[in-house]
Amino acid sequence: MIIVGIDLGTTNSAIAYMTDDGPKLIPNSLGKTLTPSAVGIDADGTVLVGDAAKDYMVVHPDLGTTAFKRNMGTDAKVSFKGLDYTPEQLSAMILRSLKNDAEHYFGHSDFQAVVTVPAYFNDAQRTATINAAQIAELNVVRLINEPTAASIAYGYHESKDAKNLLVVDLGGGTFDVSAVEMFEGVVDVKASFGDSYLGGEDFTHVIASEILKSKGMSFEEMEFKHPLMISRLKYECEKAKIAISSQDNAIVRIPNLDGAFDAEVTPENSFKVWREQFEMWSSELLERLRVPINRVLADSSWSVGSVDEVILVGGSTRMPMVRNLIADMFSIEPQCRLNPDEVVAIGASIQGGLYADNKALKDMAVTDIAPFTLGVEVSREFGNEFKPGYMLPIIHRNRKIPSSQVKRVSTVYPDQKEVVVKVYQGEGRKVSQCTFLGEFTIGNLPKGEKGQDIDIRFSYDLNGVLEVEATVVATEQTTQHIIASKTRGLTQAEIDESIERLRQLKPSPRDKARWTALLKRAERQYEQSTLEERETMDAIMNVFEFSMMEGDKSQIEKVAKRLDFFLENGYDLNTDEDEGEGWK
Ligand code: AMP
Repeated sequence: MIIVGIDLGTTNSAIAYMTDDGPKLIPNSLGKTLTPSAVGIDADGTVLVGDAAKDYMVVHPDLGTTAFKRNMGTDAKVSFKGLDYTPEQLSAMILRSLKNDAEHYFGHSDFQAVVTVPAYFNDAQRTATINAAQIAELNVVRLINEPTAASIAYGYHESKDAKNLLVVDLGGGTFDVSAVEMFEGVVDVKASFGDSYLGGEDFTHVIASEILKSKGMSFEEMEFKHPLMISRLKYECEKAKIAISSQDNAIVRIPNLDGAFDAEVTPENSFKVWREQFEMWSSELLERLRVPINRVLADSSWSVGSVDEVILVGGSTRMPMVRNLIADMFSIEPQCRLNPDEVVAIGASIQGGLYADNKALKDMAVTDIAPFTLGVEVSREFGNEFKPGYMLPIIHRNRKIPSSQVKRVSTVYPDQKEVVVKVYQGEGRKVSQCTFLGEFTIGNLPKGEKGQDIDIRFSYDLNGVLEVEATVVATEQTTQHIIASKTRGLTQAEIDESIERLRQLKPSPRDKARWTALLKRAERQYEQSTLEERETMDAIMNVFEFSMMEGDKSQIEKVAKRLDFFLENGYDLNTDEDEGEGWK
């Protein structure tokens, strides 16, 4: 039995499997190993996944979606053409597409999967990921943490010496840092912290907004008034951002208010971005990167010097300024031998291979740290006054679970009859910044001065069930309250319904996927090209669509090659016989 490894990412996803020669990535229908985690619904109701969806969204920002991983485990839905889609269903479309790629590659569907999730994912998010796999009819052996997968990809699980690894993952929309301890096949995520609203998109946004500022425009206003112009400008800025990771500067073409590009590139409709300038604009973002890094070091009680290696994950760690920041902070060159976009899928496939051979590493810390701080509301004394609303942490974030901790609180006024224990989770100083989990009352308190002691014990188990016990110290009277994890996975009936719904959506036929993606790319580029280019492009696209209708594969391939050449090089390799019979 093959067990593939899947990185279900916020921006991009990938699938790999273990061969005798080591891990290997499985290409998608376009021959690429990265599939953008984007979903779109075409005019005729066909589902577009990956590059085709990403290109389609530049032209139709309202008919596609991406970054839905952020909403896993919540009720947030997106709606296209009057139909709602849950984050599980959207993730299932990506998983199904990856599964199809593997089926096509292996020639059979006899495989299972290890799927990766961020280390900080809580129960609800993990359950949602498993539900997404069930909707995609993919059999998941196990979820593993992304930083664990990255560490395995670098082979540290085989190391005899203990190693302290810091995994720094800067993707398209999220930033995660994890402290991973590895020793003789045991992989332990000691602490994990992140910023779920910091990623490559923010760096792209900086370029776009600075360019608009230089032209006397505001990003927010333009986005509201001219969304198409902004989606195209962002596309251009992302290209430039990637280019200046390996060169000094890049030119960004600025579309007009309708989103179209002028025929000629002039100083008015373009902007040359220099790397140095980009790094200056990004200084605030860079500072924000330090916060989770320092937090993870503190949470794992590591000093800067105790980090043996830093592993880079995520496309945005290719930016030289990010690598320099790491090198400056730790005085070591970060590990980037493996492609940062692929390292998680590769690690997951190695883990899958070990499971398949029954040689899996000793079970790793998957859900065995509390992802959030758990505590109760208390009042604080200010002079003679007590102010309610403060969080008293009882089980701290990142503490190993199962865990049982006790803290003593006391009454705040004489003859107090009862105490209401309000339980919260979160990192805020005040409970208003945390999530309310439940409450219960301890009554019949003995009469007396203020300051009667009550012990509050929190016992948190591996299934996310929190048992809270309050004991009045003087009388030993105990009150218990159980807060079950909020996770409500989907029922089998709900999964079946989603499977059926997904089956009814028109999938983009696999053999045509490459052509559909080419057409979507051409459509995007068409709208961005000059009048002159448009004429030629229009002619080739017409021939292409006509050949697709006719279904003559060799003719389609021929025109596809011609269209692809034009998109890449901006001129036509045309020979008249390509125009095809019946056309014109
Ligand atoms: P990931 O989610 O890990 O696939 O990361 C995707 C993000 O990485 C996107 O925001 C890309 O713009 C960004 N990215 C990919 N390659 C580069 C590069 N060479 N330089 C800068 N950013 C990059």
